[in-house]
Amino acid sequence: MLTDLPDYDTHEAVIFVNDRASGLSAIIAIHDTTLGPAHGGTRAWAYASDTAAAIDALRLSRGMTYKNAIAGLPLGGGKSVILLDPGQRPSAAALRAFGRAVDMLGGRYLPAEDVGVGPAEVREIAAETAHVLGVAEGADADPSPLTALGVLSGMREMLRRETGRADLAGRTVAVQGLGGVGGNLARMIHEAGGRLIVADMRAERCAAAEAAFGARVVPAEGIHSAPADVFAPCALGAVLNARTIPELGARIVCGGANNQLADEEAGRTLAAAGIAYAPDFIVNAGGVMWTSAPITGLDRPAVEERVRGIGATLGRVLDAMAPEETPQEAAIRDACAAIGRR
Ligand code: NAD
Repeated sequence: MLTDLPDYDTHEAVIFVNDRASGLSAIIAIHDTTLGPAHGGTRAWAYASDTAAAIDALRLSRGMTYKNAIAGLPLGGGKSVILLDPGQRPSAAALRAFGRAVDMLGGRYLPAEDVGVGPAEVREIAAETAHVLGVAEGADADPSPLTALGVLSGMREMLRRETGRADLAGRTVAVQGLGGVGGNLARMIHEAGGRLIVADMRAERCAAAEAAFGARVVPAEGIHSAPADVFAPCALGAVLNARTIPELGARIVCGGANNQLADEEAGRTLAAAGIAYAPDFIVNAGGVMWTSAPITGLDRPAVEERVRGIGATLGRVLDAMAPEETPQEAAIRDACAAIGRR
């Protein structure tokens, strides 16, 4: 039963969408709308099974509740997944059918970009519904520079707490993944006087960071163990797990990737190893602060100011951490308090 899955966690609604004409198969998970309409991107992915897709939607949707609540946004948490066959991309007809399903929900769920759903796909969805975020055009359409700015703010706070000095000058940061978030973060660290160790599956991205920032390039499978002041995961989820934690080369982990902890145990293992962890959903909220600007009514400078405050939010949550709690647990408790959940 879906409701038996641990990630179900009292979701308000889970909607299965099927459209025979276009072949669309999708799941929309609405976790909590206490603070406002559920917001979280749409992921298009070839899942191993329908259950794997449902688990992903439920897990990510709950994470969005926490992220939006801690970010102080008038938004709840939701997420959707479009189920694909291996090698398939979502067709325009399927995206339009998905848009009609979103429209049927009357604004209770607001989709946006995610893995496999970029600006072109969001435009197809938006052709059928006004209830979608992240349809800005041009340079402003990309939330990743603001996500990186928030990660940098969190990184300064972690350095201040752990070493007594917040600035990045002379620090070494190991950045895993040089896409939208990691690439912008690497640039910002370089501009702040930091040294970089980088890895990406795409050799041209590593070469560009080497040329532009003097970054040292290491193989992707070894970046977590590179000796550094901070390890910044900016690629995949579940990078902090039983195998990688004992190998970590930094005492601080602060990066933009979603769901960095493989499971709850990973949070405890990190703490036991004396590694300071910045909960991902606090420090990577800069992007959603920007994509939700049509809801908050904030302009770019006002959003940037809020994003620069992410370090202070992180500090407040870590200050309130109980002795037996991990940073992740303290962050979830803080988010739940904001929405009146236990
Ligand atoms: P992206 O696709 O632009 O970049 C990801 C990069 O990671 C790519 O260059 C890819 O080649 C690289 N990569 C993949 N596997 C790797 C591996 N094993 N080792 C090293 N590099 C690897 O994605 P993005 O938008 O930069 O997002 C990165 C992470 O941040 C994701 O987890 C995403 O969910 C999260 N995130 C992004 C935003 C945003 O604003 N874009 C906001 C919040 C969270």
